[in-house]
Amino acid sequence: MPKVKNQMADTNSNEGISRLDGQLFIGGSFVPGEGLRLPVENPATGTIIGHIAAATQAEVNAAVFAARKAFSAWSRTMPRTRADALHRLGNLIAADALNMAVIMTTEQGKPVNEAKGEILKLAEACHFYAEEATRVFGEIVPNDQPGFQSLVMREPIGVVAAITPWNYPAELVGWKLCASLAAGCTIVIKPAEITPYTALAIAEKCVEAGIPAGVVNILTGKGSLVGQALVEHPQVDKVAFTGSSAVGLHIQQSCPQVKRLSLELGGNCPMIVTASADVAAAVRGATRRSFRNCGQICIAVNRIYVHRSVYNDFVTRLGVAADALSVQNGLENPGADLGPMASAEPLAKTAQHLADALQKGARLVAGGKAPEGQGYANGHFFRPTVVADCTHAMKVMTEETFGPLVGVAPFDDLSEAVALANDTPYGLASYVFARDLVEVQTLSQGLDYGNVAINNVDPGMMNAPYGGRKQSGIGYEHGREGLLEYFNFKHVRLHHGVGA
Ligand code: NAP
Ligand code: MG
Repeated sequence: MPKVKNQMADTNSNEGISRLDGQLFIGGSFVPGEGLRLPVENPATGTIIGHIAAATQAEVNAAVFAARKAFSAWSRTMPRTRADALHRLGNLIAADALNMAVIMTTEQGKPVNEAKGEILKLAEACHFYAEEATRVFGEIVPNDQPGFQSLVMREPIGVVAAITPWNYPAELVGWKLCASLAAGCTIVIKPAEITPYTALAIAEKCVEAGIPAGVVNILTGKGSLVGQALVEHPQVDKVAFTGSSAVGLHIQQSCPQVKRLSLELGGNCPMIVTASADVAAAVRGATRRSFRNCGQICIAVNRIYVHRSVYNDFVTRLGVAADALSVQNGLENPGADLGPMASAEPLAKTAQHLADALQKGARLVAGGKAPEGQGYANGHFFRPTVVADCTHAMKVMTEETFGPLVGVAPFDDLSEAVALANDTPYGLASYVFARDLVEVQTLSQGLDYGNVAINNVDPGMMNAPYGGRKQSGIGYEHGREGLLEYFNFKHVRLHHGVGA
């Protein structure tokens, strides 16, 4: 990967954003959209940074048609050719990481250093899928009669519609893009309305990388119109969606044709800290995974169950750690711990979940309000907030807050902790801090989640399947399993008669 550390970006201008303003990316070209203009805000300042074009039905049709047309050639290119294109894309993205990060911070709010980290992880995903592209093996499966041979082939599904949220504007687009390209699918991407420019910036890199026209297309606009039009489009073969459980369910129910669906949905992720835990490590983990990206993470720790013997110590230390986090404009302070929240909507929900908890008897340990000062007046800022002595009567413990708020409650025995952790319609990620082997084994078996992270808070990595169960979704991203989501299987049963 090229070095990126000497890049300079002008954080006072939004050159990238003005270049991408009002553009759609269809059939290999940027075109000014013909539809209504919708404003995009900088969440740190409340200023309008640009406008997107709401794609019209004709533009949706044009993008899907371009993807369909490109599919026949792209699906037949040699895997090595597709891998080379993905490697080039990864190199170009890494080489321009800082400029892309500034675009992301301007529309989403996360501090520039963190945004840059996300861009570099997208580059890593390009390289990972490039390598996977050349290792898609079929199978020869045993037959039930002599003289036959059965081959199970993998064939790319076709045109993918990717619909993505605003919390990770690069990675959540990129995983679907990279897997599609590696498999030989083509893709039409509808990024979140409030974070469109990062996706358009990725399209610029696709052009530079020489990815053929029509293989990648980007449409901006409202999910309920443009996203829905893609879901309903008869020429879309698969919908790859990341977002809320409510919209995921709506997509599943409103899809008028049979098509492949992968749904990466909401979470309400527990952490269990047992009596044998390294409490300092648990506090560090909880601080990071509850508050990073202002808690706007599907795998954020929402609720923490702590063994009564270490409960008070843990709560006190978590409060101190939360209070020590800096909340700042992430463009002006690239190294801030937290920027603003991405919009008014998740901020309002956070305040509502906090009020609900306090009203039902929770104890405020840290945060609880917006930071004070002129620099915060027009942005969507909130201090990292810890509430203790929580119960499952409170929304903070039972609903996805998607904000910098975490609830803590004590437990006495491990089976109680497992029951509380599993008492949710969600099943995305769970966390354990424990050193006793029996506790570790009991919890890794008992937690009904697609991901269990033990003595760490990073359950996702490129090489392993990542997905939720229950209302957290269907299907996987990452790993071999993630790539298989972009293939159809074909069983070819050949009668050759030899040995019959
Ligand atoms: P959202 O409201 O569900 O929106 C996600 C995407 O769907 C956006 O692009 C949205 O467009 C679009 N959309 C909305 N209505 C649609 C419809 N009827 N048909 C097709 N598309 C439609 O989610 P969000 O508020 O952006 O993101 C937060 C949620 O995402 C949280 O619940 C979080 O847990 C979840 N998430 C899950 C994962 C995971 O891996 N499991 C990862 C990250 C986030 P607009 O932006 O224009 O509304
Ligand atoms: Mg939403």
